[in-house]
Amino acid sequence: MEPVCSLWNVVKSYGNTPALGPVSLDLFPGELVGLRGPNGAGKSTLLKVLAGLLSPDSGTYARQKELASFVSYLPQDVALYESMTVRDNLKFWGTVYGLPAGAIRARSRWLLEKLELSEKANSPARTCSGGMLRRLHLASALMTTPKLLLLDEPTVGADPHSAELILALLEHFRAQNCAMVLVSHRAGELEQVCTRILTLESGRLAGEARS
Ligand code: ADP
Repeated sequence: MEPVCSLWNVVKSYGNTPALGPVSLDLFPGELVGLRGPNGAGKSTLLKVLAGLLSPDSGTYARQKELASFVSYLPQDVALYESMTVRDNLKFWGTVYGLPAGAIRARSRWLLEKLELSEKANSPARTCSGGMLRRLHLASALMTTPKLLLLDEPTVGADPHSAELILALLEHFRAQNCAMVLVSHRAGELEQVCTRILTLESGRLAGEARS
């Protein structure tokens, strides 16, 4: 099977601060790769390189030709418009992704149902609990159908039920052949959903476990 994207000996520094590499990695359709490691190990930097937000200083990042329009990156910090309704936040992202109005409506409805947010659809996002905001944050990244989904601690601070809903949706997209990288510090979470787990230490891949 052809990888969705590949890193070969990729190195990235911020000025004089080494952050990542050399790292080599292939990501395949339908795999959910867990990424763990201590703070400062380079996890966020790796996600940003995979998202195309940072260019490697050296080494190569190759991805399938058409992939660029099908990458969703979910940063750790929730980026939502708190004064806008839950539904309008999704409408905004659907517009950013260039979806037609009918597709935006259908996609929002489906995501709101899956993430148990339908009752909140017409309320301002600021009235959501922390766990609901985490769910809405994920929904915003899924207004498009990604082939590569990069998730930086999507369940951090979420209540257990919100975390379960988020993981179930990730499993749904994995089964649709999306490749995913998931950073998480929650005990047992990576083991629960990932098809393989990588450990980053001081910018390098230190270990791999497969399930
Ligand atoms: P992690 O996500 O594993 O906590 P990061 O990728 O955020 O690790 O950081 C890797 C290293 O790069 C750390 O030493 C961090 O301090 C440094 N770093 C991250 N972002 C920046 C930045 N914007 N400017 C300078 N140094 C940074």
